[in-house]
Amino acid sequence: METVTISHKGAAWARTGHPWIYRSDLVRGADPSLSGEIVNVNDDRERFVARAFYSHPSKIALRILTRSAEEMDRAFWTRRIDAALAYRRHVAAGTNAFRAVYGESDSLPGLIADVYDGHLVVQTLIPGMERLKALLADMIGERLEAKSVTLRNDIRVRRLEGLAQEKTVLRGQPPEAIEIAEGDVRYLVDIMGGHKTGAYLDQRENRLAVGSYAGGERALDAFAYHGGFSLHLARRVRQVVAVESSASALEMLAKNVALNAAENIEAVRANVFQWLRAESQVGTGRYDFIVLDPPAFAKSKPEVAEAVRGYKEINLRAMRLLKAGGLLMTCSCSYNLPEVAFLDMLREAAYDAGRHVVLVERRGQARDHPILIGLPETAYLKCAVLRVT
Ligand code: SAH
Repeated sequence: METVTISHKGAAWARTGHPWIYRSDLVRGADPSLSGEIVNVNDDRERFVARAFYSHPSKIALRILTRSAEEMDRAFWTRRIDAALAYRRHVAAGTNAFRAVYGESDSLPGLIADVYDGHLVVQTLIPGMERLKALLADMIGERLEAKSVTLRNDIRVRRLEGLAQEKTVLRGQPPEAIEIAEGDVRYLVDIMGGHKTGAYLDQRENRLAVGSYAGGERALDAFAYHGGFSLHLARRVRQVVAVESSASALEMLAKNVALNAAENIEAVRANVFQWLRAESQVGTGRYDFIVLDPPAFAKSKPEVAEAVRGYKEINLRAMRLLKAGGLLMTCSCSYNLPEVAFLDMLREAAYDAGRHVVLVERRGQARDHPILIGLPETAYLKCAVLRVT
């Protein structure tokens, strides 16, 4: 195993518990030929720090795999995979769609594995994991007795690591639509064509939480995708409006409506910004429950200010549309917008909307997407439940 030496500052950073070492902290040994390999990482006095994946194209040059000098053999990967799967048996019990591996949070940097009714979907995000994709996909597939194994490596972050975009079925033949059970609703997932690996598994517990809150006459699901929130709302509220701009997402939403016999969902193809403006003209104080689940408006730091304006606009308008005592479940999946800034934006929106708003519950990503305490980058989904009077 080759050795890469890092600076005193880099070693101090690594010892804070953060598992990434940036290129600016490399001192010696980072040869391009090592990209994708596991290397020893030493500090500036050549003392052992960790074993890590090296990526030559990336700003994140080293991703720590272990802080002990253990063998990096098949047994090492087996232990990591088994630990990840054992954890899911607790937190993902009662569902047939869950995230089995969530990268660094499972000590498997750059590896994502999602399961949809026994069909496995894998993503490898960095050169080190790219080399191991066949081995690890098979290992997970065997343990879960997967019906099929698919690689969804058409994810943008791979470009930062010099990796190509690809989508392939490695084993078996996944059906075009897989039926998922989530609480008392069912929905279809297209693992080849859907967003992410097919669905927004990170929102599962928030969709289920709707059940303990929603009731009344009218609900709105803004940025509805395939209608996940709408289906849960439809069981509890008389009339649901689902607003979504993508025609293909709405096609799937219609199938889900039929599958659940949820005729009280009205799907509207519109841009949520324009739709909320028009709806405000119709009149305020008409909804009992509103879900706002927009895409990440701030994909990078420079986009944050503009993103906050967007979040504020939709939240302000949603607050005005709520009846006194109505509930708003509002989300942001922008990693670049920390929770404090998200809550601050909501405070401003409440003030401008002229409404009294209390925070009923703070939520986040589902527990099968656990946050690594030493890696804030693993925490991205914010979700606030607000009561508006
Ligand atoms: N709530 C969904 C996930 C929503 S993802 C779930 O739990 O499964 C965000 C969705 O917003 C995507 O389907 C995307 O097509 C849609 N979208 C993005 N911008 C939009 C806009 N301006 N107006 C309406 N829909 C939009």
